[in-house]
Amino acid sequence: MKRESVMGLQIVDTTYDELIFQIREDLENDRKRVIVAINPEKIMKIKGNPFLAGFVRKADYLIPDGVGILMASKKLGGHLQTKITGIDTMIRLCKMASVYGYKVFLLGGKSEVVHSAKLHLEERFQGIQIAGTQDGYHMEDVDLIQKINESGAQILFVALGSPKQEYWISENKDKLSVNIFQGVGGSFDVLGQ
Ligand code: UDP
Repeated sequence: MKRESVMGLQIVDTTYDELIFQIREDLENDRKRVIVAINPEKIMKIKGNPFLAGFVRKADYLIPDGVGILMASKKLGGHLQTKITGIDTMIRLCKMASVYGYKVFLLGGKSEVVHSAKLHLEERFQGIQIAGTQDGYHMEDVDLIQKINESGAQILFVALGSPKQEYWISENKDKLSVNIFQGVGGSFDVLGQ
């Protein structure tokens, strides 16, 4: 997949179709992949947080989450044309999951928010398997690693805000039998509306 360096970050220069196709290949080949949405807010956070900077550099797919990154690319003499937002990537992954039978787990948000996000996705994508959910305020009350692994989920969306979600993914990625990890910030709040 083509990438373009924007302020030292290797941003994917692709389309939704190519990205989703590639992620399906990753799933089929049992690879672990981390998707991170890059926007001006994330770049500001990276500047003040060496952990986050390292996490982002190691991630597999840095997606240009909005016009801010396209504008930065242009200003720096680059050619990024297509924005790939975090929320639309999540939605397209859910569509792909519903078609090919991959299981999804939703982690984060308030209890009612993650519940509405699940209902929204089930209504929107017939046959989608939301294998489990966990709100982001009672994570210590359950054995979350076991809960996610037993759900059989291959795709995990983590909505804890940044950098909390990145800390969580970094800490737990290797303990999970999940393939695809995406930190989605406040996306569950948006979906459930
Ligand atoms: N959140 C959570 N647990 C926490 C803190 C935050 O589940 O301890 C959730 C919160 O309910 C919201 C999301 O994380 O759904 C944060 O969204 P926000 O828009 O602040 O994140 P951003 O997209 O700005 O990173």
